[in-house]
Amino acid sequence: MIDLLIIGAGIVGCQLAYDLSHFKLSVCVLEKNVEIMNETSSANSALIHAGYDPEENTLKAKLNLIGAKRYPDLCKALNTDYQAVGSLLVAMHEDELSSLNELYERAIRRDVQVERLHRDEVIKREPNINPNVIEALFFPTTAIITPWQMGYALMNHAVLNGVELRRNEAFVSVVRVDDHYCVTTSKGTIQARYVINAAGLQAQSVAKIQNPLNDYPIQFRKGEYQVSDLEDENYLNHVIYPCPSNKGKGVLAVKTVEGNLMFGPTSTVIEDPYNHGTTKDGLDEIDIKIVQIIKPLPKSHLIRQFAGVRPSPVSKDFILKEDKGWFDCVGIDSPGLASAPGISEYVIENFVQKYFILKRKAMVEFIWPHRIHPQDEAKRAAMIEMNPRMGKIICVCETVSEQEIIDAIHLPVGARSVKGVKRLTRPGSGRCQGGFCETAVVKILARELKMLPSEVPYDNEAFLLPYGVEHE
Ligand SMILES: Cc1cc2nc3c(=O)[nH]c(=O)nc-3n(C[C@H](O)[C@H](O)[C@H](O)COP(=O)(O)OP(=O)(O)OC[C@H]3O[C@@H](n4cnc5c(N)ncnc54)[C@H](O)[C@@H]3O)c2cc1C
Repeated sequence: MIDLLIIGAGIVGCQLAYDLSHFKLSVCVLEKNVEIMNETSSANSALIHAGYDPEENTLKAKLNLIGAKRYPDLCKALNTDYQAVGSLLVAMHEDELSSLNELYERAIRRDVQVERLHRDEVIKREPNINPNVIEALFFPTTAIITPWQMGYALMNHAVLNGVELRRNEAFVSVVRVDDHYCVTTSKGTIQARYVINAAGLQAQSVAKIQNPLNDYPIQFRKGEYQVSDLEDENYLNHVIYPCPSNKGKGVLAVKTVEGNLMFGPTSTVIEDPYNHGTTKDGLDEIDIKIVQIIKPLPKSHLIRQFAGVRPSPVSKDFILKEDKGWFDCVGIDSPGLASAPGISEYVIENFVQKYFILKRKAMVEFIWPHRIHPQDEAKRAAMIEMNPRMGKIICVCETVSEQEIIDAIHLPVGARSVKGVKRLTRPGSGRCQGGFCETAVVKILARELKMLPSEVPYDNEAFLLPYGVEHE
């Protein structure tokens, strides 16, 4: 029997696994997909929001602040990307100034660093801003990370320190037996003293299976994006937010750690949480809204579109609740990425510590192995001297060698699919979008994992629990 079972290896499950791996506990993580971090946690704006935005007296407000404070140290310890590029929240019309004032006051109350900038200063700091800008708030602590790298680093650290990860195995049902839970999965059963439900888009369904009286109203909201090529790396210096509306933060212009720009997300209520397709309406909406905040980029610079889906609680706040040794994390929409370290702390303080006296143990450190920067030719030349596979370039757009792909596959929690390799080392992320390199990636995965090329998964296999949808 294990002490704790975590259902779901998105950012919340990975952060919990990492934090709990520091203690003498037996912990298992169940993930239905072949890759971890392959749902909402990997299709978002990748922002560590500074913490001024969530409504007062909400869990979102409290846990966003805790998360934003924890990320710099976490990323330093794991050697993962963290860039405090700062953000500008821009007012384009006089009638947006009251909202700007309100957010300024809220930031001050929460001790979030903020500066008011007049038009000339905004244009000086961000030359490609829409020149109609009137005023802006500057938040220096808004940061960008690489979400899947963060999740893999957290989970690699957890697994190196004793956490068991069972991938490609789904939670199906559960019964309470005496003092524990007996969980049926798609591959067998697990006996666990306590369970944490961090199943993202399916968390509401999982909660209802545990207790049919659990009714957490959720709407699924799709957010579509457009992505630019690396040539626009220096087009913007900050993340640009419009003034928020009742639909959320609006369509943003986001810098990414790797140098692409992202424009989005939209916010459309959908029925099927796994409807990830982009739409003409969604992309047109981005085209219209993005030029309201920045000068337009040529269409030919856009290389990709994608969408992520938020499990948005109708109550507009995270739902973090215990029911007889079972803890639900439901409705974790934005700022769930920024808040994940705070959510994990909350679950440990309010749930795990109720049942266990936590004793720290000796740890093995995990350091994220960064790929060689495409422009660092000296380093690559030195590495090729030691290992010729560092010179065999598989992805020409992003300069990724065969050895870097092999290393990503053989991490303690490594890539198991074409999409996993793309996330961890970038083949398929450049202008060709995998057209040239994906067949080579399939062959490398097949050879390293000792399977036939036809057995190499491209992405997730669909697994769906029944879900309930709230209509607007
Ligand atoms: C468009 C968009 C933009 C966003 N931008 C930001 C942002 O910039 N900053 C920010 O802070 N937040 C942002 N968010 C929110 C953030 O992405 C989410 O809050 C966060 O990723 C949720 O993480 P999670 O671990 O709860 O869920 P998920 O990432 O969905 O992980 C849940 C995991 O559970 C697994 N699972 C589900 N069902 C089962 C089952 N039956 N058995 C086993 N495993 C199961 C899934 O496969 C998945 O891996 C954004 C979200 C969207 C959609």
